[in-house]
Amino acid sequence: MTDGWRMRTRMIHDGAERTPLGETSEALFLTSGFVYERAEDAEARFAERDPGYQYSRVANPTVDAFERRMALLEGAEDAAATATGMAAVHAALMSQLEAGDRVVSARLLFGSCHWIVTELLPRFGVEVVLVDGTDLDAWARALAEPTRLVFFETPANPTLELVDIEAVSALAHRAGAKVVVDNVFATPVLQKPLALGADMVVYSATKHIDGQGRCLGGVVLADAATRKHVLQPFLKNTGPSLSPFNAWVLSKGLETLELRVREHVAGAERVAAFLERHPAVKEVLYPGSPSFPQHDLARRQMAAGGNLVAFRVHGGRSEAFAVMNALRLVKLSNNLGDTRSLVTHPATTTHSRLPEAERTELGIGADLLRLSVGLEDPEDLADDLDRALDAGVPAALRAA
Ligand SMILES: *Cc1c(COP(=O)(O)O)cnc(C)c1O
Repeated sequence: MTDGWRMRTRMIHDGAERTPLGETSEALFLTSGFVYERAEDAEARFAERDPGYQYSRVANPTVDAFERRMALLEGAEDAAATATGMAAVHAALMSQLEAGDRVVSARLLFGSCHWIVTELLPRFGVEVVLVDGTDLDAWARALAEPTRLVFFETPANPTLELVDIEAVSALAHRAGAKVVVDNVFATPVLQKPLALGADMVVYSATKHIDGQGRCLGGVVLADAATRKHVLQPFLKNTGPSLSPFNAWVLSKGLETLELRVREHVAGAERVAAFLERHPAVKEVLYPGSPSFPQHDLARRQMAAGGNLVAFRVHGGRSEAFAVMNALRLVKLSNNLGDTRSLVTHPATTTHSRLPEAERTELGIGADLLRLSVGLEDPEDLADDLDRALDAGVPAALRAA
């Protein structure tokens, strides 16, 4: 097909096959099932002698096209799409685990990932060890014992802490573990965990891959054997299948992903630099900024800092809320990776389930805001933030 073209080109031309009608845009096979000419054909398909389709819970041409494009982009042998990002995380973990297994995970995780690891897995007799993801000695200690799986996200929600993918993958493999990385915050454009040693990558395609706030989706990237023998039986029999309609929307998202991510990053860099200079802001956490504690690691494993910027305002919850309520352009939402800039207060929303002591230890104070920088003109974002910070943080609390 278009082998040899660069990735941005291939995201537009590869993946889908044209039907004999010659449509320009990919066809959308919005069908739950497929019919057979003869009873013998159905028999052959169920026996996997004939590769055709049977039922969209098992496979669908529009979903397949999205999976092929994702695998290509990630540099993975294969991909499995799911209805949501959480279905992808759930399938990646549950399809590989059984009672008696041991899992080592970073402790700072997206809320529902934290629930799966700390609440769900132990119910099925899986031992879970949580570590400070930034601490390589802690990983080494935890991985001194045989382990089945290692799980982490990097950058992690909401303080953007990084995990050294290459170093942790090496430690994990020595312990016999497979490494699953939630790469949502970095996007497949800015970070390639498989090339750094990870075994599986999961995405919430709801975020940058759609990137326009339209639909939910998820995807697991893996080697072909794991996809076929571990993921496929789990997915086909438990049924977290991606709707063909959503797969079609997400494939369209991939056509512009690289362009959008590049503009997201340019906006985030501008906004982070602006926030660092604002007297109402106590601290800015942005992996792309030289002030970020793990900036060297960010430069090693990410092509750029991404579009999420966390920052602390002078004061506490009431100042953080006042800033949010004074924003006119930036919307209040716990979603991220959208064309619209979105801000959230993690301590009272995404991470409210954690006990306060744990939140404090993880750096999720009441003064912390997480901003997903959208595709608006960065100068408008700076103006909106400037006005809101001035309105929300009393002069007496600001830095001199
Ligand atoms: C949003 C998100 C998920 C879950 O994805 P959904 O599509 O909302 O199910 C998982 N991990 C991270 C890091 C996320 O940001």
